[in-house]
Amino acid sequence: MPGFELFGDAERKEVHDVLDSGVLMRYGFDGMRNGHWKAKELEAALQTQFNVQHAQLVSSGTAAVSVALAITGIGAGDEVIMPTFTFVASFEAIMMLGAIPVLVDIDDTLTLDPAAIRKAITPKTKAIMPVHMCGSMANLDEIKAICDEHNLILVEDACQAIGGTYKGKALGTIGDVGCFSFDFVKTMTCGEGGAIITNNSDFYTNADHYSDHGHDHVGNDRGAETHPFLGYNFRISELNAAVGLAQVRRLPEFLEIQKKHYDILREALADIPQVTFRTVPEGGVESCAFLNFFLPDLDTAKSVMTGFKENGIDVCFNYYDNNWHYIRKWEHLKDLKSLYPISQEVRDGMQYLETKTFEQSDQYIARNISCLIKMSWTEEEVRSRAIKMREVILNVVSSFV
Ligand SMILES: *Cc1c(COP(=O)(O)O)cnc(C)c1O
Repeated sequence: MPGFELFGDAERKEVHDVLDSGVLMRYGFDGMRNGHWKAKELEAALQTQFNVQHAQLVSSGTAAVSVALAITGIGAGDEVIMPTFTFVASFEAIMMLGAIPVLVDIDDTLTLDPAAIRKAITPKTKAIMPVHMCGSMANLDEIKAICDEHNLILVEDACQAIGGTYKGKALGTIGDVGCFSFDFVKTMTCGEGGAIITNNSDFYTNADHYSDHGHDHVGNDRGAETHPFLGYNFRISELNAAVGLAQVRRLPEFLEIQKKHYDILREALADIPQVTFRTVPEGGVESCAFLNFFLPDLDTAKSVMTGFKENGIDVCFNYYDNNWHYIRKWEHLKDLKSLYPISQEVRDGMQYLETKTFEQSDQYIARNISCLIKMSWTEEEVRSRAIKMREVILNVVSSFV
């Protein structure tokens, strides 16, 4: 991450195609567009890249999560299980539909803990949404088994793990629906954009219509199309899709660079006894967008973070006090600070957050450091970063004994 680091002629060329024809919209205007259908081409490229039957582009990753839930029929009063460690988009997308986010502990994978999921299931539970944070995944076999047992929808948020795989399948293609974000800081970017991917053609048809006001997309006269059901506007523009089209073709190269840099950094820390790496479920291959490791406790992690800062090691994060990614700082969610009234059903359903504590999540997040892997680093820069990181950690842990 992030794809913008390597912008170049390929992205410029695709954008110029769109500007030359002047058709900035993905639908219609067939005669004017000189044969350019960037959104359609990007959808086809995503299908090929991830070996999945359908891809639907939308305007953001947050929109992708809302669309994923809506097209599987999740709405008012339904409970959706999601992790305590994610991005605020997870509960935003659930609540937009009038559904209830049920926050559940993570484990040493830094994603949903299957045992904690089981405890959270009620008759109102309709979906489980693991979020593959920081380049790696939840234990998908176990979560899928829970979904099968309780007849629940499995939505994978793969926004931070595009290119990762589980038992040979792309992350995002294992559940009923998968979500990607192509916002400015993701591994591949459209500037703003997102996608849902699925092998279920009913869900896909729903997504195609729902993300464009319910348009059925039959024929070539938009005004004459019918609307089988209510929708919204979550369309991506051709300009954004054009950037993504150039980026998806470069994704294999991006993933290779991420892995090369990840391996160098990991190797440098691997023999430090106080460092343990996050658990990757058996059969999983990380996207290598981040390197994640645990230290013995919060104090050590904080001291290492201070040492990193003093030594110019940027883009590493301890999420314990982070405003955007971890429940501890989500007062606006716990207090339901909304600009508009929230239904009594959702208020009741979320009351648990006033008192519930998440010691298990706290324990993992406190000790974790996540280091973003940049693609624009030279190999020399990665190697000197690796040496510095090692030195800082050794220094801190030796002063603690
Ligand atoms: C980025 C991100 C999103 C939201 O994507 P946007 O395109 O920024 O709306 C959702 N979930 C996760 C895990 C993300 O990292």
